[in-house]
Amino acid sequence: MIVVKAGGNRELDISPICDDVAELIQKGEQIILVHGGSGETNRISKKLGSPPRFVTSPSGHSSRYTDRKTWEIYAMVVTGRINTLLVERLQQSGVNALGLSGLDGRLLEGKRKSSLRIMENGKPKMLRGEYSGIIENVNVSLLQILLDANYVPVVAPVAISYQNEGLNVDGDRVAAAIGRALGAEQVIILSNVPGLLRDVNDEGSVIPHIPARDAKDHLKHYAKGRMKRKVLGAMEALQGRVSRVIIADGRVEAPIQRALAGHGTVFSNDH
Ligand code: ADP
Repeated sequence: MIVVKAGGNRELDISPICDDVAELIQKGEQIILVHGGSGETNRISKKLGSPPRFVTSPSGHSSRYTDRKTWEIYAMVVTGRINTLLVERLQQSGVNALGLSGLDGRLLEGKRKSSLRIMENGKPKMLRGEYSGIIENVNVSLLQILLDANYVPVVAPVAISYQNEGLNVDGDRVAAAIGRALGAEQVIILSNVPGLLRDVNDEGSVIPHIPARDAKDHLKHYAKGRMKRKVLGAMEALQGRVSRVIIADGRVEAPIQRALAGHGTVFSNDH
């Protein structure tokens, strides 16, 4: 079984990804497709007159502040547009895809982070009313029922809190949590870069292989900005039975099969 994460901040062309899913399904693979949606949410929230507010944590990380209104726009974009277009495109490739969000059947359950520690004008401050979270439980039996019935689940990155509120969650971490909970052999994270780069400005500097025990060092030394959550996701997945996590190029033909052939950055549990 393979969990594939595709796209998020920058849009990837979904056609080669969906055609590749179709080929792999024909070969008898089981696939769960997870997607992102932050870039599209930013664009649509601007159009709706609610531009995203980015805040900086005391350690210098930038993130979006997801208040209730932002959450509603995010949920609309990821479940309404991105998820539906992927299901439509997969159906065109002959794949019986079934779209669902982490809210459906409590697929992804977690703890709400209701406030953010931020820096404003050089001073630390607590910002309340945040709707994001960390996934703690995956409804494995629901996914298993769908897979056993030969559906290809397409999962939108929202979760449900223990108080039954909808949460914004990171797609890379969703793929890691699902891979780990299901004991998938591989998790593939397709991005707009060919892998984890030594030099973010040089696409030729892909780090080909990282054993799990070295992932933390690579996270610290090489992953900047949004790449951090992908490496964190890789580390989380490898804590379970997942044997390989591959961060790979999503902009090429047959991107999943290329990643399975070892192109990209392969994080492995074997040595
Ligand atoms: P996605 O939209 O696929 O989720 P993101 O845009 O969120 O991808 O994250 C990938 C981005 O991370 C790259 O476009 C790049 O700008 C940034 N990045 C930071 N450090 C690295 C690195 N060491 N290697 C590759 N990309 C990096």
